Amino acid sequence: MAHDLEPIVRQFQFGGAARRIEPHGCGHINDTYAVAIGPEDGPARRYILQRLNHQVFHQPEQVMANIEAVTRHLRRKIAAAGGDPDRETLNLVPAVDGRSFYRDGDGNYWRVYAFIGGARTYQVVESPEHLYHAGRAFGKFLRMLEDFPAARLHETIPDFHHTRQRFERFQQALARDSAGRARAVGAEIDFVLSRAADTAVLVELIAAGRLPLRVTHNDTKFNNVLIDDATGAGLCVLDLDTVMPGLSLYDFGDAIRSGATRAAEDEPDLAKVSLDMALFEQFSRGYLAEAGPVLTPLELEYLPFGAKLMTLECGIRFLTDHLEGDVYFKIHRPGHNLDRARTQFKLVAELEKHWDRMARLTGEYR
Ligand code: ADP
Ligand code: MG
Ligand code: MG
Repeated sequence: MAHDLEPIVRQFQFGGAARRIEPHGCGHINDTYAVAIGPEDGPARRYILQRLNHQVFHQPEQVMANIEAVTRHLRRKIAAAGGDPDRETLNLVPAVDGRSFYRDGDGNYWRVYAFIGGARTYQVVESPEHLYHAGRAFGKFLRMLEDFPAARLHETIPDFHHTRQRFERFQQALARDSAGRARAVGAEIDFVLSRAADTAVLVELIAAGRLPLRVTHNDTKFNNVLIDDATGAGLCVLDLDTVMPGLSLYDFGDAIRSGATRAAEDEPDLAKVSLDMALFEQFSRGYLAEAGPVLTPLELEYLPFGAKLMTLECGIRFLTDHLEGDVYFKIHRPGHNLDRARTQFKLVAELEKHWDRMARLTGEYR
């Protein structure tokens, strides 16, 4: 274990001593531990202790302020709807000084959540129903936060989905060609250039005030939904570090990008990369069952576009990094970022191919 965790644990209001602390889950961003509190011979209460990755999150206190505000709101809404606020949202356990985090002497930020038992996350989608329930969970998340003033949240990663800016950065990387790789990736470059106009669409709709700013999750992967062991339903949305003001289309889009394919993000064999329309349908159905009633007609209309744009954005970021010599995303083999870019572009092409079907499926709710 990289850290001596006992002194950290003592900084939180557990009301008891830790009898076990062990690494937990397979998150890739934060360090996550399960903590059991209570006497050796009695029942234990369980908690999740996390060290925030401040390489990724430069403003940990703003991240925590966002999580505090959003979980407080969710708790109230879930209780009012007759749900169980102890299981259907994350619940922060305060530090001894009353704050929602503890900053240690090395500048690490730590936080604690009550452990939600009887449920688990899955790394792989095992059935289409899985995505239906993930869709419901994220849809409900949006609906419950519909009346939260999104603009009050900190934009902890500025311009995260400013797709026009992402495109401009790509153009700069292409002009510089600092790693001398542009010549070998002409097809991928053309793919992006021919879709340049897409990158401005949502940015312009926001500027025109035509799409509502919402509380968005910004990491709507399937493995961030706790699935209830007993019912199989999506119980709780986890991983709120990237909660920010944004568009519903970002969350829906990124969920489709990451969830509606069986292929890995870095699959080198593009023949294996396809859009699974059954998964698209399940996620959309679940999402719209919850969020449908609060989405505006324009949001509903742009759902397929959101999926395409988030996938294109992701591909553009990978290709930009490839052109810049792999300075941002960690690579594990030569050409890794190029492989990643290619899977995303293949998915974009697949989304374009299935456009009518996607529009029909999401259009049923208009
Ligand atoms: P990361 O950003 O590293 O993905 P997460 O916040 O998603 O971190 O947490 C990692 C894993 O820890 C989750 O996938 C889940 O399995 C588990 N986990 C997180 N919070 C809780 C909780 N409150 N109750 C039970 N399990 C949790
Ligand atoms: Mg996670
Ligand atoms: Mg995360």
